[in-house]
Amino acid sequence: MIRIVFGDGDLGNFESTSFTDQYINAYFVPEGATYSVPFDLDNARSSGDAYRPRSRRFTVRQWEPETEQLTLDFVVHGDQGYAGIWAQRAQIGDRLQFKGPNGGYAPDGGVDWHLLAGDESALPAISASVETIPDSKPCTVFLIVDGPENQINFSSSPMHEINWIYRSAAVEPEKALLEAIEACQFQDGKFDVFIHGEAGEVRDIRKHLILDRGIDIETASISPYWRRDHTDEAWRSIKKQWLAEQEKDI
Ligand SMILES: Cc1cc2nc3c(=O)[nH]c(=O)nc-3n(C[C@H](O)[C@H](O)[C@H](O)COP(=O)(O)OP(=O)(O)OC[C@H]3O[C@@H](n4cnc5c(N)ncnc54)[C@H](O)[C@@H]3O)c2cc1C
Repeated sequence: MIRIVFGDGDLGNFESTSFTDQYINAYFVPEGATYSVPFDLDNARSSGDAYRPRSRRFTVRQWEPETEQLTLDFVVHGDQGYAGIWAQRAQIGDRLQFKGPNGGYAPDGGVDWHLLAGDESALPAISASVETIPDSKPCTVFLIVDGPENQINFSSSPMHEINWIYRSAAVEPEKALLEAIEACQFQDGKFDVFIHGEAGEVRDIRKHLILDRGIDIETASISPYWRRDHTDEAWRSIKKQWLAEQEKDI
C-alpha cells in the first residue's frame, strides 16, 4: 500500500463527517488527456471514452483539521487500473481532484463489542474506526493481507483483538477471512458489524453472519468495495444485479 498525505489546494473547504468509514470520490485523469487538475467535471467527461476521468472511492485514513492534511492509503495491485498506478507514480506537487466526503458507519457506542473485518481496501476504514473505539471497549478485528510484511499497524488497546491473516499462509486465500470468522468464538452481548473488501469474499462472510450467527443485516455495515477481475466501471455496471442476487443467499 502507498500512503499519500495531501495538503494545500482547496483542502481548507474539506468538511469532515463523523463517519469513520468516510470516503471521497477521486477522479483520475487518463494519460494523454488534454485537461488537468483542476478541471470542469462535465467538460472532462465529454472528452471521449479514452480520456474521461475515472472515478474511484478512497477512504479518509486521517484528516488533520489544524494542518489541513488529508491522508489516503492506496492498494497497489499490479499494472491495471488508474488509482493504484497513480499512487505508485505520484510525486510531490501532483494534484488529485475529488468530491466528498461521505460515509455510513461509525462504531456504535451502545453495543458491548464491535466486529470488524476486511482486506487492504478496508484497512484504512477499519484502522480509523478502531482508533475511535474506547480503550476499555472490546472489539474483534480480522484483516487479510498478503504476508506479515504487508501489515500496517494502528493504535489499539489490549481490549482490542487484532487478528492478521496472511494469504501466503492460506490453502485457499479467498476463503481465509471467512474461515477465520467462522472459527471465532464470539463474545457475549450486543455487537455491531463492519465488513468490507472483495465482493465474493464479503458475500460469503455476510451469508455466514446472517445464517449462522443471526446478525441483524439492517444494522450491519457490510458491502463490497471492489470485485476481482473487474475494473471499478465493470463492477459498478453489474453491482445492482449482483446485490439483488446476493439476497437469494439468505
Ligand atoms: C467506499 C469505498 C472506499 C474504498 N476505500 C479504499 C481505500 O481506502 N484504499 C484502497 O486502496 N481502496 C479502496 N477502495 C477500493 C477501490 O476503490 C477499488 O479497489 C478500485 O477498484 C481501485 O481502482 P483502480 O483504478 O486502482 O483499479 P481498477 O481499474 O478498478 O481495477 C483494475 C484491476 O485491479 C483489480 N483490483 C482493484 N482493486 C483491487 C484491490 N484492492 N486488490 C487487488 N486487486 C484489485 C480489479 O479487480 C481489476 O482487475 C474503496 C472502495 C469503496 C467503494
